[in-house]
Amino acid sequence: MNTHCPFCGISAGEDPADIVYQDADVIAFRDIHPKAPTHILIIPRKHIPSVAQAGAIDAAVLGKLMLTSAKVAEMEGLDGAFRLVTNAGARAGQSVFHLHVHLLGGRAMGWPPG
Ligand code: AMP
Ligand code: ZN
Repeated sequence: MNTHCPFCGISAGEDPADIVYQDADVIAFRDIHPKAPTHILIIPRKHIPSVAQAGAIDAAVLGKLMLTSAKVAEMEGLDGAFRLVTNAGARAGQSVFHLHVHLLGGRAMGWPPG
């Protein structure tokens, strides 16, 4: 646990969050500044700064992040239409340095992203 990390605080139950799913490995909660009608963050409980710092030992939890994202999308009634995003590095838009997948849905999406 990284005590200065806001997402470790949520995972530990020390900081509030609107949690929609959790198990021993991952936790999903609503983004406080939603960019779409559905905007949920899916994180590993393990503190990994970004996917750029993940290693082979993290392969199972990385797969679980994807599968959990799809499960939460179904729970949210997104009907198979959603976007998953993970920003790695400040230049790519990362602002919280604990790996997270953004699940965005409930509106039409443009491509390419900014
Ligand atoms: P990123 O810019 O990819 O690192 O995304 C970080 C996201 O975390 C942003 O969309 C923020 O709105 C969101 N965020 C930051 N702090 C919290 C928090 N305490 N609870 C929920 N979402 C948060
Ligand atoms: Zn953390």
